[in-house]
Amino acid sequence: MLDDTINSSFVKEPRAMNNHFTYIANWKMNWSFQQTMAFAITHKNALISMSNTHTTIGLAASPLTLQSLAQLYNTTPIKIFAQDSAAQQPGAYTGDVAAAHLAAINCNGSLIGHSERRRYHHETNELVQAKMQQLLACNLLPVICIGETLEQRNKDETLVVLEQQLSNVFSCAAAQSEPTHNIIAYEPVWAIGTGLVPTIEQLIEVFSWLSKACASQPGTWTLLYGGSVTAANASTLKGIDQLGGFLIGGASLDFQEFEKIVKCQIVV
Ligand code: PEP
Repeated sequence: MLDDTINSSFVKEPRAMNNHFTYIANWKMNWSFQQTMAFAITHKNALISMSNTHTTIGLAASPLTLQSLAQLYNTTPIKIFAQDSAAQQPGAYTGDVAAAHLAAINCNGSLIGHSERRRYHHETNELVQAKMQQLLACNLLPVICIGETLEQRNKDETLVVLEQQLSNVFSCAAAQSEPTHNIIAYEPVWAIGTGLVPTIEQLIEVFSWLSKACASQPGTWTLLYGGSVTAANASTLKGIDQLGGFLIGGASLDFQEFEKIVKCQIVV
């Protein structure tokens, strides 16, 4: 596991403009409406002040809260994301939330393909592609989560799995009439909520590969890492060249921890 106390050889200058960092908090199904809004109201000014030309902050919250969050952060730089959105246009799909309806309440985008949805709801790459298509059709930003299981990692299948997951994503991007902006969140399934983080060598391999794969596709692509990011490992992770930010689960529920992740300097 990474720990900055043993990796702090030197601190680099803050990243240049083109090395913009995006931090998306994934609050999952942890908080009620009241708890979410209490956090969002209490830390509103601090979250806004953490946003600047180098830093974008996003909050991925329960569908119950999205309209209130979007109103609270209206005219601020904070971006509001759903944690999932439907593969279909509005219609007879009980329990789903349409991209068009997210757009109508001023959400900025949605996570799709999170491993918890792939695992517990059996979501396929084709379904994720359809969700991406709906988001792009509504001018919303897709945050597409991909990643291998531990078994796949141990069988040396990581890049093959990522390639399969991305194939549908790239087909969707290629089908757009205008180039779009898309976020890929690389989240190894075995790193989510476990305290385990890939080694820097493993991450360099994946992010170099991802950035080459995305460079040959239409549109612009931001690459995030997600999986047990904490204040203790964020500085080291930030040193990975192609990294454009983090998707942060557990650590984003603690404002002080989240703030430390956003503000820490790059250590390589
Ligand atoms: C996630 O589930 O998107 C995630 C990154 O979780 P955690 O940070 O808790 O590993």
